[in-house]
Amino acid sequence: MERILPFTDEHKMFQEAFSKFVASEMVPYYAEWEENSIVSREIFKKMGDYGFLCPWAEEKYGGAGADFLYSVIVVEEIARQGCRSVFAWLHSDIVAPYIGSFATEEQKARWLPGCVSGEKILAVAMTEPGAGSDLAAMRTKAVQDGNEYIINGSKTFISNGVLADLVIVAAKTDPAAGTRGITLFVVERGTPGFERGKQIQKVGLHAQDTAELFFEDCRVPASNVLGGKGSGFKCLMQKLQQERLMVSLTAQASAERCLQLTLDYVKERNIFGQPLSKFQNTQFTLAEIASEIQVGRSFLDALILQHMADNDVVQEVSMAKLWICEMENRVASRCLQLFGGYGYCKEYEMSRMWTDARIQTIYAGTSEVMKLIISRGLDL
Ligand SMILES: Cc1cc2nc3c(=O)[nH]c(=O)nc-3n(C[C@H](O)[C@H](O)[C@H](O)COP(=O)(O)OP(=O)(O)OC[C@H]3O[C@@H](n4cnc5c(N)ncnc54)[C@H](O)[C@@H]3O)c2cc1C
Repeated sequence: MERILPFTDEHKMFQEAFSKFVASEMVPYYAEWEENSIVSREIFKKMGDYGFLCPWAEEKYGGAGADFLYSVIVVEEIARQGCRSVFAWLHSDIVAPYIGSFATEEQKARWLPGCVSGEKILAVAMTEPGAGSDLAAMRTKAVQDGNEYIINGSKTFISNGVLADLVIVAAKTDPAAGTRGITLFVVERGTPGFERGKQIQKVGLHAQDTAELFFEDCRVPASNVLGGKGSGFKCLMQKLQQERLMVSLTAQASAERCLQLTLDYVKERNIFGQPLSKFQNTQFTLAEIASEIQVGRSFLDALILQHMADNDVVQEVSMAKLWICEMENRVASRCLQLFGGYGYCKEYEMSRMWTDARIQTIYAGTSEVMKLIISRGLDL
């Protein structure tokens, strides 16, 4: 079925160019990056050189002022070619938009060109050992001292945590004020008192550098406050719609890749004297999977249009995050089953699709948190 998104010839050309870029600049190196538990810094720079980072950024900052469909193309293509640990989409469409929306002109001029060129890699640090789903429980504090803030505390599970040059850190500037006492700071690589802890070893997303961050009497100039003192929680909430949409996009494109890998495999694999694809169980399983994937695609594309029209679809995006990420996990598990023992072997990409899928129902808000948001809208 034709997608409902209004892709123009320019979008198609961009998609073809980026698809070739992923095939030549990511796919051949991906196994090495997994082995090293980190992607190369250069991949961000190369993406920047070709205009694949922050395509939405204004031209005066080096961007193309492009619409959201360009971001959709980038995130989907990375997932479709099985390179999802390259968190360029986190950089471009989750973190950089904080700067795009909440920074002053002076701050934008200082940071955005580097984000677009790939010289400055981005991360966002909200989660702490004692504050994951319950973000308001964060304990990292920032105390004003003249023209500076002194940050103390720690963050965990930070994606791009090792590579990041600019980290948007949420800290409490007024602990008594609850969520109104949270402020966002841009902490730059090399700032004294900002240290990276150990890289976290995970069961999936092996090439993604997920790290702990520590702040000990870390002095940050007041000119690095983003969005104004006390507005941190509001800024975070405002950006959740796009963040969860981006994660849903990776989940959907990855489920589609699982199906493609499995369709290819079951036609090749012969058992009991015939291709695996000829068994009714295989056909029915894949028919169910294809149906789920089509339902997800239709819902997601409709949401992309709503998001592009600036409509508030937080409820619906939460539904997409919940359902599509759970669907991806169902799909990955059922596809792996059709691979038999080979699906459990690292040599087969299917095994990676399954382990990489597992995080999707946890980060950017767990499935349970999505249910909380959705149920709040049901007027119960
Ligand atoms: C690979 C990876 C990358 C990440 N990247 C980032 C990043 O870049 N930046 C960042 O800030 N964070 C990041 N995170 C953190 C992620 O967002 C948190 O792990 C997530 O929000 C859940 O928090 P938690 O792990 O503390 O689990 P908890 O909050 O302790 O949750 C434990 C369980 O309790 C359930 N639960 C929680 N609250 C409720 C409730 N009210 N009702 C019912 N059940 C509930 C949860 O759903 C879950 O099942 C990342 C995590 C991982 C693993």
